[in-house]
Amino acid sequence: MTPLTTAAVLGGLGLIIGSFLAAVSVRLPQGVDVVSRPSQCMGCERPLRPWELVPVFSWLALRARCARCGVRISARYPAVEAAAGLVGGWAGLAFGDWTLAAITAVLGWQLLLIAVIDAEHMVLPDVLTWPLIGTGLAASVLLGQGWHGVLSAGIGFAALWLVAWGYRAARGRQGLGGGDPFLFAGAGAWVGWQGLPSVLLWACALGFSLVIARLAVRRSVSSTDRMPFGPGLALGVWLTWLIGPLGF
Ligand SMILES: [Zn+2]
Repeated sequence: MTPLTTAAVLGGLGLIIGSFLAAVSVRLPQGVDVVSRPSQCMGCERPLRPWELVPVFSWLALRARCARCGVRISARYPAVEAAAGLVGGWAGLAFGDWTLAAITAVLGWQLLLIAVIDAEHMVLPDVLTWPLIGTGLAASVLLGQGWHGVLSAGIGFAALWLVAWGYRAARGRQGLGGGDPFLFAGAGAWVGWQGLPSVLLWACALGFSLVIARLAVRRSVSSTDRMPFGPGLALGVWLTWLIGPLGF
């Protein structure tokens, strides 16, 4: 298949997976059953009809309101759907090879969900980070790298756990969330330990830009302001997987 075909297939699949991810990103932090409950309106709890479940287009056609009760439908849904579509398309364009493109898309969709939930709720649930480690190990086996993934996941976990421990010892308060070492273990499983410094660099670059943006808007950032590290790490894993470790 040409990269364009792969991109179109994975992009379309991404839109559908995105609507599932958007629902999970709402339900998981609330502890609501993610899989078995059918999609319904948040306002009137009316089950959604098939045409109201078409990614992005339904939201546009309904002009962001429920057809019956008129409650606003959050822009999160089309945004996550479009992002997941972009992830699929990007994966297809980056790798013409079907297997590699599909593996890449699976990575991107997981990272997207992790980033959205951490950005909003400042948590990295184990039900998301552990599968990231698992799929990373599976990918490294599939790509013939064997135990390299396991070793790298261990190094990733240990590195961030040590940073968190050191910060707590030095400052007397928690600097990293408890889920960050698991996310970094997943990073190691995916990009290998050689890629981990690049993941951190991307994460810091994103964090730094957000601080600058916040300064521009609010003109103050205190050292106790909490900021999720997960979205930066997720972006770092994605870019390092796509373009490789940064060379210096
Ligand atoms: Zn409604």
